[in-house]
Amino acid sequence: MAKVFYENEVNEGVLKGKKVAVIGYGSQGHAHAQNLNESGYDVVVGVRPGKSRAQAEADGLRVYDVSEAAEQADVVMVLLPDELQPAVYKNEIAPYLSPGNALVFAHGFNVHFHQVVPPEDVDVFLVAPKGPGHLVRRTYESGAGVPALVAVYQDVTGTAKETALAYAKGIGSARAGVLETTFKEETETDLFGEQAVLCGGLSSLVKAGFETLTEAGYQPEVAYFECLHELKLIVDLMYESGLEGMRYSISDTAQWGDFQSGKRIVTDETKAAMKRVLQDIQSGEFAKGWILENQANRPVFNAVNELEKTHPIETVGRELRAMMPFVKPVRKEKEAVGG
Ligand code: NAD
Ligand code: MG
Ligand code: MG
Ligand code: MG
Ligand code: MG
Ligand code: MG
Repeated sequence: MAKVFYENEVNEGVLKGKKVAVIGYGSQGHAHAQNLNESGYDVVVGVRPGKSRAQAEADGLRVYDVSEAAEQADVVMVLLPDELQPAVYKNEIAPYLSPGNALVFAHGFNVHFHQVVPPEDVDVFLVAPKGPGHLVRRTYESGAGVPALVAVYQDVTGTAKETALAYAKGIGSARAGVLETTFKEETETDLFGEQAVLCGGLSSLVKAGFETLTEAGYQPEVAYFECLHELKLIVDLMYESGLEGMRYSISDTAQWGDFQSGKRIVTDETKAAMKRVLQDIQSGEFAKGWILENQANRPVFNAVNELEKTHPIETVGRELRAMMPFVKPVRKEKEAVGG
């Protein structure tokens, strides 16, 4: 079982008297900076001029250019979009790190795949809340917290893990529990989860179900409800009480169908495909493709993104949701799977 740390095990003194620079003020950045600030830490924000910067100033924080923030800080938390981190790190952070500083991330991708190569004389660790930034902020304000993962990549001071835990406490996560992991485990499981299950697996399952029904002559509106709309109910039940709780709430007919047919859909072959997806993540093949795609200005990403919007499930979905004012778009928060 994973080791879980709670508030009373955390020595927050290790961060007191140190200055923390939160680089980026988006989904995670706004939550980390405000929570740490209200937890009594010395926080500055480093962000380029624009909407985020104006927001950080409006929130009453001390805001600087990235390099200025990095230079004055002892602990530099990088909360920029993952694709932009290598360039900003190289030009605006690395030159301003001093020996004994800490370089911190909320996702292991760039360090694990060597897109950011930290100097040998700084601590490197990650603190990754298992939730979108807006939830990290909201739960903190209500006296609770979002669980987080911490991992140490490089410990030159001998206090990297203590500092990671203190940071996690500062953003509220130790109220819920902090799990220890490694950069490798956090990065590879995050990529696998979003590709095989949460994003890739689920959207393909939904589309295939919808296509099967409409190709058999059923109305697209009815197929939409059965294969997409009703997912929310099922996922909420799973989130609250696992597969057993979900099965308790559905009809016995639905439960019998689950037992009979689930394995005919996600077969041994599907699981073998999942293993191949995992191998591509572990070998760096997936990372290489995504890095090159970004360097080429995302030709495939943009083409597929446009094409997907034209799928019949999207067309009928837009019409149906317009008829259901109770289905309000939740604030467009980037979800934890983005991390
Ligand atoms: P985001 O896109 O919401 O915010 C990025 C911020 O960086 C914005 O404030 C933007 O203005 C700023 N920025 C962009 N380019 C910049 C530049 N060149 N110079 C200075 N500032 C710049 O990002 P996010 O979703 O908060 O992700 C940040 C990190 O947190 C990533 O490593 C991500 O994997 C991780 N993470 C995210 C979530 C999540 O739910 N969103 C969860 C866990 C971990
Ligand atoms: Mg510094
Ligand atoms: Mg039904
Ligand atoms: Mg039942
Ligand atoms: Mg994730
Ligand atoms: Mg992710």
